[in-house]
Amino acid sequence: MTDCFSKDLLGVEQAMDYMLSALSPVTTESQNITLEQACGRILSEPVRSDLAIPPFDNSAMDGYALRAADLKQNKTLRLIGRSFAGEPFEGSIEAGHTIRIMTGAVIPKGADAVVMQENCQAEAQNITFNSAVKAGDNIRRCGEDIQSGDIVLPQGHKISPVDIGLLASLGVAEVSVYRPLRIALFSSGDELVLPGNPLKPGQIYDSNRAALRAMLEKMDVEVIDLGLIADDKHSLREAMLQGAQTADGIISSGGVSVGEADYTKEVLEQLGKVNFWKLAIKPGKPFAFGKIEDCPFFGLPGNPVSALVTFHQLVLPALAVLSGRMPQQALRITAISSEKLKKRPGRMDLQRGFCWQDENGSLMVRSSGKQGSSLLTSISKANCFICLPRDSGDVEAGANVQIQLFDGLLSSKS
Ligand code: AMP
Ligand code: MG
Repeated sequence: MTDCFSKDLLGVEQAMDYMLSALSPVTTESQNITLEQACGRILSEPVRSDLAIPPFDNSAMDGYALRAADLKQNKTLRLIGRSFAGEPFEGSIEAGHTIRIMTGAVIPKGADAVVMQENCQAEAQNITFNSAVKAGDNIRRCGEDIQSGDIVLPQGHKISPVDIGLLASLGVAEVSVYRPLRIALFSSGDELVLPGNPLKPGQIYDSNRAALRAMLEKMDVEVIDLGLIADDKHSLREAMLQGAQTADGIISSGGVSVGEADYTKEVLEQLGKVNFWKLAIKPGKPFAFGKIEDCPFFGLPGNPVSALVTFHQLVLPALAVLSGRMPQQALRITAISSEKLKKRPGRMDLQRGFCWQDENGSLMVRSSGKQGSSLLTSISKANCFICLPRDSGDVEAGANVQIQLFDGLLSSKS
């Protein structure tokens, strides 16, 4: 049975398509920064390698370098020198000769294989080899990972700690990156109070801004915190204008439900073009998107879980576009539900789940607790979303479901 309101609801994919086509990178300004500052930043130019990696043929083992064909005649060769990492052997290997070689050391001229030391016996200058050897054994070839001139990281790539290592291996000391996005953030609602202050009857603490700010900062976004905005036209208008003048985008939470949002709608209609959508997603039905002057505006629902989920699913891809980052496809994987999950057809559910591997190695998932859109504990205890398609109903215990593992923004565990 389909939810009787589902006709009015906009599919999440349609909303995403609309949003992404209305957005383009705002960060045309780039800056050169040192490698130490580069983690998490987005490349404004591709990085090409000036080097081959490895830069020279080198040994993959501690052992002896030799000419493989020599061992067909004689298993014992004469030790004539050594090649250590950073201290190459200057001569060349002639018939019947070998040298001691260490991992990472240059393969000397004439040698075409390395035998690991465990397969050799050394007696003074005579080295006897016990294993079969063929040309190329235990040699890491010049350029086998990267050729000089290769694009190693493309424009729009977000630099990870591993990339820092990769760039360092190329001798890169500086990279060109886009400047960080500037996002204005505010919460709207007369009932909201800043943590640290006492609550009067009917008041609650503003948790959305705290969580959204932490997520944005984790993404290296510069947050312009416009604070708590009262439910009145004047304050809302001032906040919107300030955001539009100072930021690349505005994110607010609360005040986008139908009815109660009339004045929000009125203000936004005066300032720009904003759509108020009822999305076919649970949690997080009300959502506003549009532009105030040229500045994109994202109006999240007020309920705390809805705010976080819509931010994660809809606003993150939009911010990726604004920041010049290459699009990312969220990875969904199959798990087995260990219990019955309640679901009404009509909206895509992103239930908060906890997944684990059972004793047979199967990926299992269960609900992480009560699923109300205002209940933060179940998202705090979760490590994944259980993604149930729009038209599906209840899920029986033992059925396959798609899950999306929490990333480092929603969880500190991954
Ligand atoms: P609204 O979207 O403004 O109708 O708010 C929906 C629900 O979310 C109400 O219960 C609000 O009190 C609550 N809410 C709105 N904004 C916040 C916020 N910043 N932090 C915590 N709860 C909020
Ligand atoms: Mg409100």
